[in-house]
Amino acid sequence: MPQLNLVLLGPPGAGKGTQALRLSDDFGLQYIGTGDMLREAVSNGSELGKSAREYIQGGKLVPDELICKMIIERLEEGDPDAGFILDGFPRTQPQAEALNRELEHLGRSLTATLLFDVDEAEVLTRLSGRRVCVKSGHNYHVKYNKPKHEGRCDLDGSRLVQREDDQEDKVRTRLEEYREKTEPLIGYYEEKGLLRKIDAGRSADEVRDQIRATLAMARLEEQV
Ligand code: ADP
Ligand code: AMP
Repeated sequence: MPQLNLVLLGPPGAGKGTQALRLSDDFGLQYIGTGDMLREAVSNGSELGKSAREYIQGGKLVPDELICKMIIERLEEGDPDAGFILDGFPRTQPQAEALNRELEHLGRSLTATLLFDVDEAEVLTRLSGRRVCVKSGHNYHVKYNKPKHEGRCDLDGSRLVQREDDQEDKVRTRLEEYREKTEPLIGYYEEKGLLRKIDAGRSADEVRDQIRATLAMARLEEQV
């Protein structure tokens, strides 16, 4: 069976991280989430974290050189025999081109880019209600995905907090960054014949079902 190598594309709050976790469980894929990697670098106080911190807190994209270096290292040290899910990368045209070059270098290729299509009002509701575990970063939502005990993580009982960049003014900046720099990648992947649109406005279970059906189709087409 050919490898599943996926890119998840869509605005912040579209549900990419939520589905990435399910996909990596369902298909045994390596999860590569740039937001998580950067937040970890910030909390470790590494050089990368120090350079990236202000951008993240302000809702701006981190410069391409930093992020590309981080991803290239991650892909090179990852398991070459297991597929991967890229969540939050690429987010600019130069990042998409760098990914292309790196995959060619590694002799790998993308199976599909899944576009999480969801309207802005829904994204705002999802981001304003998102809460994350201070320890593991695991995601919840105050209405759509409640923890068993209010304000506490189901996995380890740690405190749940709102991400600093989920505050309203930061969200506005993040959506502007998305529209200006990331949205053009829709055309880029469409031209390559890799884009698959997912109706991400539905419930998390429905979105998962649509992704599974879409991937089954993509694999069938690959075999033809
Ligand atoms: P992204 O990784 O795209 O930024 P997340 O997966 O973190 O988005 O989801 C954003 C918020 O929306 C989280 O609080 C999550 O629990 C919630 N969420 C995710 N998918 C859905 C869905 N299909 N319906 C309702 N809420 C969702
Ligand atoms: P996320 O968790 O995916 O919402 O990402 C959180 C923040 O990390 C973003 O607002 C950016 O500041 C930064 N970030 C994550 N991925 C990238 C990327 N591919 N390029 C630039 N900045 C990124």
